[in-house]
Amino acid sequence: MQATPPVFDGHNDCLLRLPDDDPESFLTGRESGHLDFPRARDGNFAGGLFALFVSPSPDTTPREQRWVQTEDGSRLDPPPQLRPSYAQEVIERLLSRLETALEASGGRVELAESVPELRNCLDDGTLATVLHFEGAEPIEPDLSNLESYYDRGLRSLGLVWSRPNQFGYGVPFEFPASPDTGPGLTEEGSALVNQCNDLGIVVDLAHLNERGFWDVADISTDPLVVSHAGVHDICPSTRNLTGEQLDAVAESGGLVGITFAVNAIRPDGERDTDTSVETLVDHFEYVADCIGIDHVAVGSDFDGAEIPDPVGDVAGLPEVFEELAERGFDAADRRKVASENWLRVLDETWR
Ligand code: ZN
Repeated sequence: MQATPPVFDGHNDCLLRLPDDDPESFLTGRESGHLDFPRARDGNFAGGLFALFVSPSPDTTPREQRWVQTEDGSRLDPPPQLRPSYAQEVIERLLSRLETALEASGGRVELAESVPELRNCLDDGTLATVLHFEGAEPIEPDLSNLESYYDRGLRSLGLVWSRPNQFGYGVPFEFPASPDTGPGLTEEGSALVNQCNDLGIVVDLAHLNERGFWDVADISTDPLVVSHAGVHDICPSTRNLTGEQLDAVAESGGLVGITFAVNAIRPDGERDTDTSVETLVDHFEYVADCIGIDHVAVGSDFDGAEIPDPVGDVAGLPEVFEELAERGFDAADRRKVASENWLRVLDETWR
């Protein structure tokens, strides 16, 4: 019996990797990377949140781009915040890649803005893209442009990446370390959560520090969503979730998309792709055992992270589902992990 139902995936950075002069390579296939249309078909990848992420301008140093730990383990000052106008320009470029690829697909790939559209895609084999920002830098501090992005398809918003912005504080890359790395949401951050609730935009808590997480848990009226993360008890990275955070996700009716990023799943936190599928599936199993099968889903981070060699790319998704089946996840459980949990949460959040 086929172990892999159609998969809806909570996070990929594929759009960042497509060349501006050839976004159609998504359809024809790419030599490198993790995700394109032909390989998606091979792996039963039915759709997912497609992230738009703003890198600092190329003339900045690595030190100015991400918040990192020094060799001796001490924490440096955070990188400078990006200007909204700069972030908006980058977003336009990424959006035009997506639009070009959608047009060239002749209906094989579609932008999904509602759960019925998403279900239609899953039923008829159209690849569904849901628009997500990883980091709210393009949003003006007074939120005046949020609704216009919603009108263009934005349905999920990560408040932060691993850096501070006008709304909150992303965690620095640190291991082993607690996700409690600094202050909670700013006033603008709280207002942004409220407005996302009103519009029906998922507030994604991936990479948000722990105080920010609890602020959102206090004020949000929607299920808590962490699109891509691992279990802190297994891999104590700042980017992973503690037991208390997992409990809060379950209480809200939300979900965690399990990341495939090796440095967030390996108990030693190393960026080593010689990592087994078993190590990855340990996180799925832990979350299911700890807070229930209704709250665990997929959040691969294809094209945004180094992933286990035995998975390799999106075509390797069946490896994960075979291992889930080995561990006693029956067909109904696997359908929940593959897409039904995401669809339930999106249905409760989008309106
Ligand atoms: Zn990420």
